[in-house]
Amino acid sequence: MNQLNNIDIVRNIKDNISIIDHIQKFISLKHSGRDYLGICPFHDDHKPSMRVSEDKSLFHCFSCGSGGDVIGFHMKYNNLDFPSALKELAEIAGVQMPSRSQNIKTKSNTELLYKINIFANKFFIANLKQTAEGKKAFNYLATRGIEKDSLERFSIGYSINEWNGLATKLSSKNVPIKLAEQLGLIIKSAKAPGGFYDRFRGRIIFPIVDLNNKVAGFGGRTLFDEIPKYLNSPESPVYNKSSILYGLNETRNDIRKDNRVIIVEGYIDLLSLYQNGVKNVVATLGTSLTSNHAKLLKRFCENMVIIYDGDKSGINASLRALDVFLKHGVAPFVVVLPHDEDPSSLIEKIGKEKFLSLINSAKPLIDFYFENILDELNSGTKSRNSIIKEIVEKLSLFSDTINRSFYTKKAAEMFGLREQEIYSLLKNANPKALNQAGSNNSQSKNSYELIFLKVLLHYPHFIEKIRDDNILDLLEEEILKGIINVYIQSDFSDIASLINHFDDNESRQIISELLLSSEDIENEHIADKIFEQSYRRIKLQSIKKEQRKIKSRLKSDANNKEPDFEIKLLKEYDNLVKLEKNLSGQVYGA
Ligand SMILES: [Zn+2]
Repeated sequence: MNQLNNIDIVRNIKDNISIIDHIQKFISLKHSGRDYLGICPFHDDHKPSMRVSEDKSLFHCFSCGSGGDVIGFHMKYNNLDFPSALKELAEIAGVQMPSRSQNIKTKSNTELLYKINIFANKFFIANLKQTAEGKKAFNYLATRGIEKDSLERFSIGYSINEWNGLATKLSSKNVPIKLAEQLGLIIKSAKAPGGFYDRFRGRIIFPIVDLNNKVAGFGGRTLFDEIPKYLNSPESPVYNKSSILYGLNETRNDIRKDNRVIIVEGYIDLLSLYQNGVKNVVATLGTSLTSNHAKLLKRFCENMVIIYDGDKSGINASLRALDVFLKHGVAPFVVVLPHDEDPSSLIEKIGKEKFLSLINSAKPLIDFYFENILDELNSGTKSRNSIIKEIVEKLSLFSDTINRSFYTKKAAEMFGLREQEIYSLLKNANPKALNQAGSNNSQSKNSYELIFLKVLLHYPHFIEKIRDDNILDLLEEEILKGIINVYIQSDFSDIASLINHFDDNESRQIISELLLSSEDIENEHIADKIFEQSYRRIKLQSIKKEQRKIKSRLKSDANNKEPDFEIKLLKEYDNLVKLEKNLSGQVYGA
């Protein structure tokens, strides 16, 4: 595609996609003055460091320096190159892209996979509604308290207990059978009549939907006491179980609103809570909570409450989640249920209000961990030494020092240790540097030049003040020179598109940072003063540079026989000193 096309597409995309709406699909944003703030997904952020501006169509993280426009965000977040990001966004924005035959095949394959999943999902839903066996499944769900509304909302279906119901249906509709196999819907077998048999047989089917609202895979619960009780789709090009959470597509806004997520194990748990009005919930579906899950949840909220089944395996799964969360700087909470209870049975029994008060009084998971390990110590299942080692390892996972020192103190009290003892063990255990701040791009730059550029970007008409000076000669920072050079030749009415002129990350980040940090120069009068001062500083710095040059020439060319050599240089120097005095007076007297 040619250059002109590309620029048009970029403009079209930005006109049609609100950067706030788009970023909100991935992270939670809160209003802050004119802009929005959110937890930055590009570094291990503990406070909302990312600012997003609707009017400027830019985002910037003031901690790690990531920044750019909606396309830049989409690229970085989804790890895409520019053409792929453009293509995806063009689709969202409904902008026509000039077609390139090369990518059509892979793309259409992925799309076909999703289409086949939708096809299968419709087939399962029809089974639930229209068959005698489906009626049985429906009755079972009713005994578990699952209402009709939930079945509709979560598109729940049923797979008949026969070998090739779906396989036959797929081939009768000429669905590419290889792709259905890739999705794990059917399994190849020489013994099966058509060469394939159904994976899901005699199971209630829960479609697993991703954050783009596409059906990625399925989970099936047996209606006939088959083993396993729950069977999920295998991994496929569209289903990656370690990074998808059941229900999140439906519940993300409630999670965001409550700034809290309730994490349960099963489909039925999630449905029960949801229909009882507790909607900020996700289910892990039998897999252990992964690092990707933790990252995913952090995009939507800060508080995590785990409520798993009250049996031994539920308790162990909760404890395993602790490490994952601590590594991501999250201190999760836990509600531990009685042995024979699960979240679904509980909420059906006690109702929303009582359930919520349990959630509100959830205890820190680390406390639960300590109690558990103290039991193990007291009952003699573990030795004192191995327990101390375990505790130290756990404490070393904390990424914030406040929590770590709090729990170090607590562990010392609980296990009769001296705090100092734990600290010295901690030092040896895991001296990994917790690299928090990352690198802030602008920090190492000449601050006067940055301020100067910042005011200039916010008040384009100040350019008149410097029109006759050769500003590019005065600047030291090459990268800022590059930005100003493009800027003074650009269309000032569309400042947000300035960033599109730059391919390098550093320039893009500097622009987004300067455009999104304007609190100190919102008053034009003040901005004017700051502009004058920084400009004088820049001139001054350039004068000093000239002075240094002359000095070193006087030194190195001391034997120059040219008659007026020294006098000429000294005169030049003198002029510079006068200029300097003049400017300095203005700087300090302003
Ligand atoms: Zn960041």
